[in-house]
Amino acid sequence: MAETARAVLEASEKLTKQTVAAMVDGKIVDLHTQLPETYTKLTPIESHQDTALSIIRHSSAHVMADAVQRLFPGTKVAFGPAIENGFYYDYSRPDGSFSEEDLRAIEAKMQEIIDADTPFRRENVTKDEAREILRALDEPFKLEHLERLEGQISVYRHGDWVDLCEGPHVPSTGFLKAFQLTTVAGAYWRGDERNPMLQRIYGRPSRPRRRSRRTSSRSKRPRPVITASSARSWT
Ligand SMILES: [Zn+2]
Repeated sequence: MAETARAVLEASEKLTKQTVAAMVDGKIVDLHTQLPETYTKLTPIESHQDTALSIIRHSSAHVMADAVQRLFPGTKVAFGPAIENGFYYDYSRPDGSFSEEDLRAIEAKMQEIIDADTPFRRENVTKDEAREILRALDEPFKLEHLERLEGQISVYRHGDWVDLCEGPHVPSTGFLKAFQLTTVAGAYWRGDERNPMLQRIYGRPSRPRRRSRRTSSRSKRPRPVITASSARSWT
């Protein structure tokens, strides 16, 4: 069986507590998933590196969606990408929009999930298996999206929460530390006004707490505008 990036990095004493993923021949991979049979170069990605940002942000989006669905049962999820300066996730909530009070409750629930330090796990699945998982979860947006996907399908879990996703993610929820949910905005499913209106919650995580001093010293930079342009194809 192929090795994991974690095993290779551990063996060469390159794994640190801040290692969030690995770069294998130019592709970012989880620490826990199997490496390709052949590769030439493997380097660790540390939490303070810019490459780590989108992994940390997107993993935060998973945790936010988990928190939202725990607090507001019946809410459906759409897409949750990392974006410039943060992340978002789109929701269809039966009761409508989210209030400021709701955001604070979601932040508190996210902190609980982060404190639990639950591992993220990748599973490669067939399209039929993914369909079964999403039907059981009753996630219509994910089901619709699944039908557009080609090639290897994967789902990621942390605890009981599962998402159709290509990854990668941080090793465990404990790698996500300071964050803040900022705004709620309406967003059409797939950006098309003929589609249902969803509720988009934006978040701004910072890097893991161990790096908070470094993060705060950089906080005087001009605030970048949040755009969805850096969103990945399916998350
Ligand atoms: Zn994901």
